[in-house]
Amino acid sequence: MSHRRQGRAVVLGASVAGLLAARVLADVFESVIVVDRDELPVAAVPRRCVPQGEHGHGLLARGYEALEELFADFAADTVALGGIPVDIQRDTLWISDGNQLRGAESGLRGLCLSRPAIEGYIRERVAALPGVEIRAGHEAVGLLSTPDGTRVTGARIQPLGGAVEELAADLVVDATGRGNRGPTWLAELGYEPAAEERVDAHMVYVTREFRRTPGASPYAALVQAPWPGQPFGVVAIAVEGDRWQVTLLGCGPGITLPAELDEFVAFTGRLPDPRVHEILANAEPIGEPHRMRLPVSVRRRYEDARRLPEGLVSTGDAVCAFNPAYGQGMTVAAAEALTLRDCLAKGVAGLPQRFYRKAAKLIDTPWEIAVGGDLRFEHVLGPRTRKTAFINAYIGKVHRAAVGDAVVGRAFLRVANLMAAPPSLFAPGIVARVLRGSRRPAAEVSRVAGRQAVGAATRPVR
Ligand SMILES: Cc1cc2nc3c(=O)[nH]c(=O)nc-3n(C[C@H](O)[C@H](O)[C@H](O)COP(=O)(O)OP(=O)(O)OC[C@H]3O[C@@H](n4cnc5c(N)ncnc54)[C@H](O)[C@@H]3O)c2cc1C
Repeated sequence: MSHRRQGRAVVLGASVAGLLAARVLADVFESVIVVDRDELPVAAVPRRCVPQGEHGHGLLARGYEALEELFADFAADTVALGGIPVDIQRDTLWISDGNQLRGAESGLRGLCLSRPAIEGYIRERVAALPGVEIRAGHEAVGLLSTPDGTRVTGARIQPLGGAVEELAADLVVDATGRGNRGPTWLAELGYEPAAEERVDAHMVYVTREFRRTPGASPYAALVQAPWPGQPFGVVAIAVEGDRWQVTLLGCGPGITLPAELDEFVAFTGRLPDPRVHEILANAEPIGEPHRMRLPVSVRRRYEDARRLPEGLVSTGDAVCAFNPAYGQGMTVAAAEALTLRDCLAKGVAGLPQRFYRKAAKLIDTPWEIAVGGDLRFEHVLGPRTRKTAFINAYIGKVHRAAVGDAVVGRAFLRVANLMAAPPSLFAPGIVARVLRGSRRPAAEVSRVAGRQAVGAATRPVR
């Protein structure tokens, strides 16, 4: 850093989005105070206020790249923690709409590591930065502002059972997640709520862990996503401590999933592809099951707000909470941290408008992918345009073509991993391959794909 760090930033929420924001704020501010209402564990274990930590989390290639940019030794450090670096096309079994995407070296880098371990790593690294203080067990209860409300000047925080304290700041970052009170706090200062888009896919998750024998499976992750003909899926991710984190997914109103061990394992045997079941049939179970019924996906359009106070930005799930089935949340939080860094280069004045404008562009693609995918299910309410129908029909062909054509598979995974924009799937060379490769009837492709190792990875994963 050539310039002097000065002033104070306060970050509300010490989860992935808040900590990554703190990482970039520490380059600019002399003091960065990160406040969380939870008790933050020293070990990489799930915690009360982040219940999704019990469930498998995939890190997309774009997120991996962003984390490497934010932490120079990210790759080596996470391997030391037991993380498994993967090539996302070669080391993952992908079943989309019943089609197995052909495995191949893709250059798309991902990481298999549990959510608590990823957060724990980021927390440790951020806490060690000069000027950073993390205050656990403190709840943010409101904002401080100038008398006319045009500038946020800090936050009111309250330790459990203690008195409210005022924390002055030159910048406040709200990273308090899905259930954030940002709109209420803004209303208290006289601001209209930002427009919201909401989509309810009625997702249900049940996760169990099993002992993993390193090298026994050619895959570090196996993903069988639900699709309209099959509203159930399963994701198994190899994580540190030689464990498989196995999540059953269901998509639909009133859907339930089995949590009891025998039923859980039997359920995986009734899915179109047998390979997760084959792993579980002989695996030792660990611990208890965890269930989660997911709240709606919400996107807040701060970029369109007529008025916003200076000195306050929101990030992470507080701005956009996605359907987690697409594995985008941590990646978008990391990309938003890089955007915040770039926007801070011009100072704090006008930061909210600058940040939200750029963040909106960043969120557009993952939101379109998630909402477009959700709208394939009849029960999901939302505007279905001709464009949505056309894109979804084309993506169906992409999945079919990707069974035999690794180039098409890579093009699809580059978009799903936020490394390329969706129009890249319409490049002439890809369209030609998709049309050629999707000519085989869907049912035939599904049967072949579901029951045989088409283009399977050959390298055992340690
Ligand atoms: C079941 C499930 C599975 C998921 N799977 C994936 C996946 O595979 N890949 C992926 O990238 N993402 C996934 N996500 C999303 C991912 O967990 C989040 O996007 C990511 O954690 C970033 O969230 P965040 O930091 O914005 O909020 P959160 O992680 O929700 O954290 C919010 C933080 O704010 C704190 N807080 C809240 N209110 C207050 C307050 N008033 N005062 C002080 N502190 C407060 C909380 O204690 C918490 O620490 C999944 C989510 C769910 C629910």
